[in-house]
Amino acid sequence: MNRILCSLLVGLLSLIMGGVLFCSAQERDHFARLREAMVASQIVDRGITDPAVLKAIRKVPRHLFVPERYRSAAYRDHPLPIGSGQTISQPYIVAFMTEALSLKSGDRVLEIGTGSGYQAAVLAEIVQEVYSIEIVEILGKRAKGTLSRLGYANIHIRIGDGYRGWPEKAPFDAIIVTCAPTQIPRPLIEQLAEGARMVIPVGRKGAVQRLVVGVKTGTALQMEQAMPVRFVPMVRER
Ligand code: SAH
Repeated sequence: MNRILCSLLVGLLSLIMGGVLFCSAQERDHFARLREAMVASQIVDRGITDPAVLKAIRKVPRHLFVPERYRSAAYRDHPLPIGSGQTISQPYIVAFMTEALSLKSGDRVLEIGTGSGYQAAVLAEIVQEVYSIEIVEILGKRAKGTLSRLGYANIHIRIGDGYRGWPEKAPFDAIIVTCAPTQIPRPLIEQLAEGARMVIPVGRKGAVQRLVVGVKTGTALQMEQAMPVRFVPMVRER
């Protein structure tokens, strides 16, 4: 009798487990299809060509970086709330900023504004080491959790004011800023290696800001191009 009960239980358990595995595999395929469509219509069609950037965006599961209730919207053509009044950038903006850095596989990159950790994951697919600073503790901790669950060992997150950069790890081969200061922080220019690139939105809260792409030349940042964007403001530690 016991034996029959046991095998019934085992049978039931394997049915449940099989169902769970089947569902999560189905879900994974579903999001992979959405991701592929996003890359084609929002990124390739708008002129992003760097193969390393396209490969990274095809791989990183963006839906796992947004709150559960927004998962189905994760691959749409707009930013999404991530809590604490902050947002994950629109996929095209992530692709554009990443391509603008002209990254190489051996690079060490600094990001200001970890947010969900999505941009850091895209960078980590391309370069050797990513250093990312987030001022809102709860977001930084959540991003750390997400990234370690996904197995990213080359992303280092620090909680603090990114205005000052991460001098102990400088110079960086590229710096990406995903919140908008009113002026380019001097410490970030100083922590950029000669000939390295920075991409940063600059401007006042609520106004249209300029996305600046610059190259470090001597002690200055030589501006190469800019386009209008709207980012959350860079806040300062009091
Ligand atoms: N790159 C993020 C998007 C971040 S939104 C992603 O992929 O999800 C911008 C982030 O910058 C917010 O999380 C905000 O809290 C953070 N931020 C604002 N001011 C900052 C500062 N001075 N230093 C570090 N992070 C800052």
